[in-house]
Amino acid sequence: MCGIFGITGTKDAAKLAYVGLFTLQHRGQESAGLVTDDGGTLRHHAGMGLVNEVFDNAVLAGLTGRSAIGHIRYSTTGSSHIKNAQPLVLNSCLGVVAVAHNGNLTNADALKAKLQKDGAIFQSSSDSEVILHLSARCPGRGLEDTLAKNLPKLAGAYAFLFMAPGLVIGARDPHGYRPLVLGRLGKSYLLASETCAIEVAGGKVLREVEPGEMVSIAGGKLRSRRFAKAKEFTRCIFEQVYFARPDSVVAGRSVQTARYEIGALLARELKSVKADIVSGVPDSGTVYALGYSEESWIPYQTVFMRNHYTGRSFIQPDQGLREFTARLKLAPIRDVIKGKTIILIDDSLVRGTTSRKIVASLKRSGAKKVIMAIASPAIISPCYFGIDTPNRKELIANKLSVEQIRRYIGADELHYLSLGSLVGACGSGKDRNFCVSCFTGKYLEAL
Ligand code: SF4
Repeated sequence: MCGIFGITGTKDAAKLAYVGLFTLQHRGQESAGLVTDDGGTLRHHAGMGLVNEVFDNAVLAGLTGRSAIGHIRYSTTGSSHIKNAQPLVLNSCLGVVAVAHNGNLTNADALKAKLQKDGAIFQSSSDSEVILHLSARCPGRGLEDTLAKNLPKLAGAYAFLFMAPGLVIGARDPHGYRPLVLGRLGKSYLLASETCAIEVAGGKVLREVEPGEMVSIAGGKLRSRRFAKAKEFTRCIFEQVYFARPDSVVAGRSVQTARYEIGALLARELKSVKADIVSGVPDSGTVYALGYSEESWIPYQTVFMRNHYTGRSFIQPDQGLREFTARLKLAPIRDVIKGKTIILIDDSLVRGTTSRKIVASLKRSGAKKVIMAIASPAIISPCYFGIDTPNRKELIANKLSVEQIRRYIGADELHYLSLGSLVGACGSGKDRNFCVSCFTGKYLEAL
C-alpha cells in the first residue's frame, strides 16, 4: 500500500503533485518524494515523514518543471530508510529515468540476484528498482519499447509511474491488483492511485488504466498500448474494505456507498443479534456501522474518539509508551458505553491484538456486552501483492477457530461478513472482479 501521483504539461506541476500526494497521505506515512521534468532535467526531492513535513514552499519552488511524478511510501518490501524513499532515479544507458511503484513483485529476489550476478549495483533494497535495471540491460528503441519488453518479466502486483525527459508513463500489472486511474485537468493528464487525488487536484477522472496497459504522455498527447494480455481483473478488495478514501471510486463504485452497503449486508446476516447501539472502530468502521444501523434499526453512537494529530512521533513509541499511545489515539466515550450492549464493527481482524485492546477498553468503560462484527471474512492467508499482512503464522484466523478468537479478543460474540456479501457490495456488473486470496488461500498463480 503506497500512493502514486503524476501530472504532465502544466507550470504548476510540483504544486499540483503535492496536492495529489497530500490527498493520498492515508496510503502511507513513511516517506514522500517528487521528481519534476524541467525541460529535460529531472529534479528530485524525497524525505522521511508526511508530505507536509517533507515539502515546504522553498522545496516546491526548487522543483521547477511542467511534469511531475510523486510517491508516498508504506513499506512492505525493503526497510524503512531514506534510500528506499521513492521516486527512485537511476542514470543508465537509458538516460535518466525515475520510477514510482505501488505493489510487490513476487519474483523480485530472483530477478535481483540474477541482475547482481551480471554486475548491476542496486541503490535501494526496494523491489521497485528491478524494472529499471532489467530495462537498462535490455534496451529497446526507446523507454516505452524497453518497458513493454521488460514489464512482462515481472510477477506480482504493480502500478508504476515512470518519468524520462519529455515523457511520463503509467503501467498496471496484467491482473490490475493495485489501482491506477487516469484523469484530465485542462490540457494536462493526471495519473493517480485513487480518483480522490485527481478530483482534489481539480481534475476530472477519465478511466482506470487497464490491466496490462501502458499509457505514455509526451508532447501533450496520450498513447496507450498493451504490454501484456489482460488476465482476469483482480483488484485488491481491500481498497474498498480499508485503503481507499471514502470519496474515491473503485471498480465503478463509490467507496462510501460500498462500505455503507457492506454494513447493511452485515446487519442482514446478523439479524438475530440484539444490541442497544451499533458503532464502528474509527475511521473506516464508522461507515459500516451507519449502514448496519439503517438496516437493523439499532441506533448508531460514536463510542471512540480518534485523535488524528498524533503524527509520526507517535507511530513507533518505545515500549513503555505503547499503552498510553493507544489511549491517545482511540479514547472511549464512557457515558455512551456504560451499561450498553454494543455491536462494534471493524473493517478486518488480522492478528487480533488491536481488537483485544479495543474490547478491553469498552469493557473497562462499563459496556455490558461487546459484540464484535467484522466487515470482511476471516483472513487466513498472507498477501503477496503489496499489502503488509503478517506471515501465515501471525494471522489469528489461520490458527484459531472463530470461538477461540472470540475468547482471545475478550468479546461476548464475534461475527464475520460472508465473502459473497463482501464481493456483491464492492463492484457493479462486469467490474465484480476482485482478488480475495487472503480470505481463501487460493492464489491465481504459483508463488
Ligand atoms: S491477497 Fe488480500 S490484501 Fe492481497 S491483494 Fe489480494 S485481496 Fe488484497
